[in-house]
Amino acid sequence: MRSARPLRTMKFGGTSVGNAECVGRVAALVADEAAGAEVVVVVSAMGGVTDMLIRAATEASRGDREDWKGARQELARRHREVADTLLYAGEQAQVLPRLAEEIGNFENLCSGFSLVREITPRGMDALSSLGEKMSALLVAAALRSKGCAAEAVDATELIVTDDHFGNASPHFDETAVRTRDRLAPLRRRGLIPVVTGFRGATREGVCTTLGRGGSDYSATLIGAALESDEVWIWTDVDGVMTADPRLVPAAHIVPEISYREAAELAFFGAKVLHPKTIQPVLKRQIPVWIKNTFNPSCPGTRIGAAPAGARPGVKALTTVSKADLITVSGRDRLSFAELAARVFQSLSRDDIPTLMVTQSSADNVLCFAVHDADLLHVRSALEKAFELEILHDYIAPPEVVPQVAIVVLVGENMKGTPGISGRAFGALGRRDINIIAIAQGSSELSISLAVNAGQVKEAVTAIHEEFEL
Ligand code: ASP
Ligand code: MG
Repeated sequence: MRSARPLRTMKFGGTSVGNAECVGRVAALVADEAAGAEVVVVVSAMGGVTDMLIRAATEASRGDREDWKGARQELARRHREVADTLLYAGEQAQVLPRLAEEIGNFENLCSGFSLVREITPRGMDALSSLGEKMSALLVAAALRSKGCAAEAVDATELIVTDDHFGNASPHFDETAVRTRDRLAPLRRRGLIPVVTGFRGATREGVCTTLGRGGSDYSATLIGAALESDEVWIWTDVDGVMTADPRLVPAAHIVPEISYREAAELAFFGAKVLHPKTIQPVLKRQIPVWIKNTFNPSCPGTRIGAAPAGARPGVKALTTVSKADLITVSGRDRLSFAELAARVFQSLSRDDIPTLMVTQSSADNVLCFAVHDADLLHVRSALEKAFELEILHDYIAPPEVVPQVAIVVLVGENMKGTPGISGRAFGALGRRDINIIAIAQGSSELSISLAVNAGQVKEAVTAIHEEFEL
């Protein structure tokens, strides 16, 4: 189903719908856009709500009734305030009972968790994504109060996933069919669908979530399903930056980056995008814009196919400030292949991502970096995997270099450009910053350098200056 007007899928993040004033701003933006384009909206929960829900559930499962009673009040208060400020009386009469219903669901789930002293992953998904249901109701009602026909839609009716609760993977084709079918009648009637981000459902209809920050992913899934002309991700920053501005004050917005560059930046923790966001739009080459709700006149960053003839070299830097390097040595007892196979198998069982990997083969040494938050987990996984070998002194216990930071240089056009690593090394060397480990793959899309965590600011600044970003 196509109309002559361009179709834009627009996602609004938690801060963009954080209070009544913000929701009002979103409604105005959507109403404006809807004058010239067909708009499909995807929303996150109000900022902080998901954290609060998860905390309340955790406390409930420990038998603490106070925390979730407090969370219940807060949930009611924040959503009620938006309704009171923005909605006409008629709308309030419709929406308040539906908000109350969700708050009832929250209470039932928490009291269930507190009775059994346990949270099942399935129960957690139903609970942690209630914020999205509530914000979708409010944003749709705020649009109607502005005279724009709109309807809240629960993404459990659109996004079909596996049953990996907490971090479910969508089935793309089924999602596309369901999304198109469910939204077609609304679109025909000229209604703006306001879809809950973050949520999906299994084929059997059980609610799942797409991982923290997953509403970006919801937006590109829905955008791709509808063959949108563009996906706009509205957030609280002006776009993708050349580096983290808290580390490099001279950092600035990158007007255009490629899909691969964006995916690389997101993987290494650039906060602006959920790491899986790019996947759904790649095939159809749908451009994704990052825009700032609080500064809508700034054009933002366009993520799309790599522009021809772009400037060679580094496009942006990203950093993982809290990481650890782990070294496992097979001595001459285990071949490198066997060592690596067993290390990665033990990590894959718990879905632990590695940030960089290097091999120094003379002594069968494998070195890799993980997020500091995963360290304890990784250590015990490795100790278990190599229990016998360590006991018999076949291999050394894994060694950890703690408190490293990883600085990543990203750029599609670094490929085949000589001298980039040399310049980065030089910039660090001149400032006496030691590089602990290095990784670059043959795609030459990124170069990762591990440095002492205490020197991360200086390191990123040096590289930012060197490449005149
Ligand atoms: N509300 C969810 C979260 O905080 C999803 C999102 O914001 O994208 O993780
Ligand atoms: Mg968010």
